[in-house]
Amino acid sequence: MKSLDNVTPTLPVSLPQAGGGVYRTGSSPARPDAAAVPTHWYNIAADLPEPIPPHLNPATGDPVTAAELENLFPAALAAQELSTDRFILIPEPIRDVYKTWRVTPLLRASRLERALNTRARIYLKYEGASPVGSHKPNSAVAQAYYNQKAGVDKLTTETGAGQWGSALAFAGAMFDLNVEVWQVRASYESKPYRRYLMELYGGRVHSSPSSQTATGRAILSDDPNTPGSLGMAVSEAVEVALAEPRVRYALGSVLNHVVLHQSVIGQEAIAQLREQGEATADVVIGCAGGGSNLAGLSFPFLREVLTADASTRVIAAEPSACPSLTRGEYRYDHGDFSGLTPLMKMHTLGNDFVPDSIHAGGLRYHGMAPALSHVVNLGLVEPVAIHQDAAFHAGVLLARTEGLVPAPESTHALAAAFAYLDRTSREETVVIGLSGHGQLDLPAYHSILSGCSR
Ligand SMILES: *Cc1c(COP(=O)(O)O)cnc(C)c1O
Repeated sequence: MKSLDNVTPTLPVSLPQAGGGVYRTGSSPARPDAAAVPTHWYNIAADLPEPIPPHLNPATGDPVTAAELENLFPAALAAQELSTDRFILIPEPIRDVYKTWRVTPLLRASRLERALNTRARIYLKYEGASPVGSHKPNSAVAQAYYNQKAGVDKLTTETGAGQWGSALAFAGAMFDLNVEVWQVRASYESKPYRRYLMELYGGRVHSSPSSQTATGRAILSDDPNTPGSLGMAVSEAVEVALAEPRVRYALGSVLNHVVLHQSVIGQEAIAQLREQGEATADVVIGCAGGGSNLAGLSFPFLREVLTADASTRVIAAEPSACPSLTRGEYRYDHGDFSGLTPLMKMHTLGNDFVPDSIHAGGLRYHGMAPALSHVVNLGLVEPVAIHQDAAFHAGVLLARTEGLVPAPESTHALAAAFAYLDRTSREETVVIGLSGHGQLDLPAYHSILSGCSR
């Protein structure tokens, strides 16, 4: 028998460089139902009784124009940001990448139903099935595609725990774009696995604050031991993007075009429910950090509420440590710490708000998507704040009943759903958005299970 020591693994002669890979169809081993991947994104702006308040130019106070947005984004994304078209065609190269993991599963959680002793039928829409384990590639892939088409060489971005950074690094690999990520130092050092994932996809990752930028150097000379913050990381990524002509900045949530891209989630869920013989969902529940996964799941359902007399309730679960919808003000605010983005009308805790360091890093954002803030204001979505401990217990119950390990962010949706189900004995259809898996968040589960909450 051949000794294993003598088996040399053969690698391709040259691995693709950063961003060098081109995805080919048919290479996915467990190919989902590709024909059912939506052909269009759905834009709720077309169906709202009152328009979403426009973003404002902070210098003039006037609504931002497409031309102004084109300083930040390629023309196609700037147009999507302002669009009121109901459906926007998904370009085939984007749909082609979506097909590697979409349609994502809609799972009937019968063991969970029994454990909760509920008469409701619970369905989980599982975005953890994507290559990086969250919904974020739905927009990252689209943003990378449009930037590459516009002749951009490199995208810069910030990331906290690394969900968005790894989604953009993956998308960069699909469309031949370099991706440079500023990751908040505390996470860079304590949570290395998503950094390794970003590097695996060819991304370059800096600990933020870094010596690469004037912002970073200034912060470091003031306080060499700073743990960093998302605000600082945004400033670094934006500084680099503004300094070079073929470099652009990409945002992973909040903006209208990101919300638009995420609409594939809800469109699929509606079709999947119908396949199960369900007319629609009575309740849709998701977690909300910047609002993109919940908007993506719920807006196609709200379309039926707005245009076809459906009566789906939508619940937004936010962390009690960062309660922009339940405790924030609804007003114009900046999207970033340093005030470089347009002013957006949103539920906000103030752009200088620094939330406690909770495990659900993806929910630590001071504001909320203007589109989601607006529908909350119209009474179409009900917000609730969930404490981290309740969220984790809900996550543990899901693992022990259905086997899925939810992302710490997603556990907020579960806890909100369990609280809702506790108060109703109706036989109804409940769809819970599971925005990601938590396989890289096991230390957080471990610390909860071993009795220390942090
Ligand atoms: C980033 C993230 C969130 C929060 O972002 P939204 O824009 O509110 O969706 C939620 N869940 C997961 C798994 C994330 O990575």
